[in-house]
Amino acid sequence: MTKGKVCVVGGGPAGLFAAIEAAKRDFSVTLYEMGEIGENIKCAEGFLDSLNILGEPEAGVRFKVREMVVRGKETYTIDMSPINLWMIDRKEWQKYLGEKAQRMGVEISENHPISPDDLERIKREFRWIIDASGIFSVTSKLYGFKHFYTANSGVTVQYVMEGDFSCLKERILAGIEPHYTGYYWIFPKGPQIANVGMGVLRYKKGMVLRNELERIVEKEGLKSYRILRSFGGLCPIAIPGRIVYDNILLAGDACGLTSPLHCGGIDLACISGMTAAAVIAEDRVSGYKDELWKVIGDKITLERELFEFWDSRGYDTVDALIRRFSRKKKFPYFLMNPTKYSRQLILLLKALKLSRA
Ligand SMILES: Cc1cc2nc3c(=O)[nH]c(=O)nc-3n(C[C@H](O)[C@H](O)[C@H](O)COP(=O)(O)OP(=O)(O)OC[C@H]3O[C@@H](n4cnc5c(N)ncnc54)[C@H](O)[C@@H]3O)c2cc1C
Repeated sequence: MTKGKVCVVGGGPAGLFAAIEAAKRDFSVTLYEMGEIGENIKCAEGFLDSLNILGEPEAGVRFKVREMVVRGKETYTIDMSPINLWMIDRKEWQKYLGEKAQRMGVEISENHPISPDDLERIKREFRWIIDASGIFSVTSKLYGFKHFYTANSGVTVQYVMEGDFSCLKERILAGIEPHYTGYYWIFPKGPQIANVGMGVLRYKKGMVLRNELERIVEKEGLKSYRILRSFGGLCPIAIPGRIVYDNILLAGDACGLTSPLHCGGIDLACISGMTAAAVIAEDRVSGYKDELWKVIGDKITLERELFEFWDSRGYDTVDALIRRFSRKKKFPYFLMNPTKYSRQLILLLKALKLSRA
């Protein structure tokens, strides 16, 4: 006998992890995806298991990232071998997760968009709903908080490019520049294909990201490469005040969960999807936000402080820090251990900010 009916809206990482966890916990699960699982993904496809919780993805891995090349005032190299960071093919990974969910009994309905009116109806049909429909979530349309995402998001643009990326074998590249707080990336998926994009965490009025990306493509010598896909997207970097609406729980981007430092959100999507299903199973839905914060709170707080530090101290200071880390040939390992280091680091960052004021 099942424990009851759970509906998941959205077949991205948050929805798939939520559906699998709910099925594991003996719920009867239905997942609605507006398109097809694994299609129309907007992502650079770096899977950073920033809290060492998830481990290597079960499918779709292209390579474990060995080093990160950073372009600042000079070009630096940082050893990434101790870090849980993989380049993946999200389509392959999500298709695998969809099939796994189906094998566990999840009913998946593709090409089935859920409108706000549908959500009202589903609320009556299912005991619980996990809204993992990304940005802008169906719940935000029904309850009127779409503007929250617009006001609290990083802005990105990306090309998927074909050309010779063999010089980046098992490496990814990130670049910082003086005129914005954000970065650009070249994340190769193999010798011939890479995701090339840029994002700003605090959007400056008048900045045309598409022009910036064109400039970066030129600067990195990719002008003759072929653009296979081009898109932009928002990365929500703040959690709404409420994350439970009646019997609906938000997860993943719908819940504002991308890193306030680098906009990565795959890991947070998986973790929040699992946590949402767990609190439902344990009859602790009112404690969902606290439960989530227990796991990710230190990371988010530390990353937000680091971003503020970067934004206030600017390019020169950040470049000097990266230079120092590259000399030590180490990734700033404290970023991967936020629970252990965040309190001391946040105090240090605050003191440094004050010392400048
Ligand atoms: C350009 C760019 C690059 C990025 N690069 C990285 C990166 O390298 N690493 C990283 O960790 N993160 C990255 N991110 C962030 C990452 O993509 C997201 O945080 C992650 O996809 C969130 O997963 P999700 O399941 O919450 O939402 P999504 O992946 O957006 O999935 C939502 C799903 O819901 C479906 N859906 C939407 N509306 C409805 C509806 N009404 N009814 C039914 N289904 C619906 C969609 O079709 C989709 O399948 C990047 C984001 C952008 C924009």
